[in-house]
Amino acid sequence: MTQAQTDIALEPWWMPFTANAAYKSDPRMLSRASGVHFETPDGRQILDGVSGLWCVNAGHCRPEIVEAISRQAAELDYAPSFQMGHPIAFEFAERLRSFAPDHIGNVFFSNSGSEAVDTALKIARAYHRANGEPDRTILVGRERDYHGAGFGGIAVGGLDPHKVPFTPLLPDVAHLPTTHGLEENRFSRGQPRHGAELADELETLISERGESRIAAVIVEPVSGSAGVLVPPVGYLERLAAICKELGILLIFDEVITGFGRLGATFAAERFGLQPDMMTVAKGLTNGSVPMAATLLRGSVYDTVVAAGNGIELPHGYTYSGHPLACAAGLATLSIHETDRLSERAAALAPSFEDKLHSLVSAPHVIDVRNLGLMGAIELDPIDGSPGERAQAIFRRCFDADVLIRITGDTIALAPSLVYEEEQLEVLFSAVGEALANQ
Ligand code: PLP
Repeated sequence: MTQAQTDIALEPWWMPFTANAAYKSDPRMLSRASGVHFETPDGRQILDGVSGLWCVNAGHCRPEIVEAISRQAAELDYAPSFQMGHPIAFEFAERLRSFAPDHIGNVFFSNSGSEAVDTALKIARAYHRANGEPDRTILVGRERDYHGAGFGGIAVGGLDPHKVPFTPLLPDVAHLPTTHGLEENRFSRGQPRHGAELADELETLISERGESRIAAVIVEPVSGSAGVLVPPVGYLERLAAICKELGILLIFDEVITGFGRLGATFAAERFGLQPDMMTVAKGLTNGSVPMAATLLRGSVYDTVVAAGNGIELPHGYTYSGHPLACAAGLATLSIHETDRLSERAAALAPSFEDKLHSLVSAPHVIDVRNLGLMGAIELDPIDGSPGERAQAIFRRCFDADVLIRITGDTIALAPSLVYEEEQLEVLFSAVGEALANQ
């Protein structure tokens, strides 16, 4: 059976972040998965070079997770979380809290990274109100960061094409400049050396908007969706110091960087920082059941709850703490511990970096960057046809049975943390050949 013969109606599903007409005229399907491979309906094995969508960190269809989900589905398929509880949600919250950095005291469950971000932004405003500073309402994001597709996330996010059709967005939002684009940082291995001072732009914003008006700053520790933008040495530390000094909550959006991707359990640990909130999703359940969480410093929860009367935070989702997602999450965290996934990622990262940077002289490559198991190769756009060059590379890799991700003219790679050295070789040889044969 070829892909074209699958006989599935493609029209009804309005696919997300997809050029629907183009895709439906030339569809690519994935129908099964196991380990680090997908399988197409016609039986081709496709090496997964992006962990699905940065989420399947432990490899696909792990039997431990499959079994936990099916057991839970038979025992308690659903239970409400509004004014009612079920044991597995409390068990998972406690397990996640102890897996998270020590300063994290509480966990708010949602179903997607976008919801985890909107939850964090709402909690930031609720916290300052509860703390007697109701005028601290400004939410600061950063150019080129991605924080999901909700109205809160696109407002603080820094990707203009995601905003244009939907304006006007939230008021009381401001943006820091991107740290990306400095000529002297091109082809950096790991963190680039220049640009820490860009964090001081937060002080400029504070002087323009008023010292006690800023509620929170949200950043991706390493921006994923914009094409792996790695923070300059010292940048995040400086941002954290300014936030701490001026009572601004710092939110790390760890939807991609959480659960081992950078060779540490979280980016917060890798950088030795203690953000007041961390948003996580994707790797939380190894991509198996949708789930996300907003992790909070205990004092944030305590302040809002102490000031509240009745329902302290009028916020939540029908599926917050869904039993199947909790079962998947518990099994995922067990795999992290038994398989030492963060350590595996740290061990694989130097070879990943070497192979990635071996492509610096391929035709049309204008930048290569990486941290942990996140890597990007940026290509010179074709005049008048931005994105087309990377599209062609994507198609060539797929024809060679390798799935990569592209964003604009940047190729992004994020192998699962259980890759073997030989699989890295297959990945980079496919990308190298596609680049060489442009
Ligand atoms: N935040 C970051 C950093 C992300 O990378 C993403 C998704 O890629 C999101 C938020 C949104 O997550 P979701 O697509 O699960 O809503």
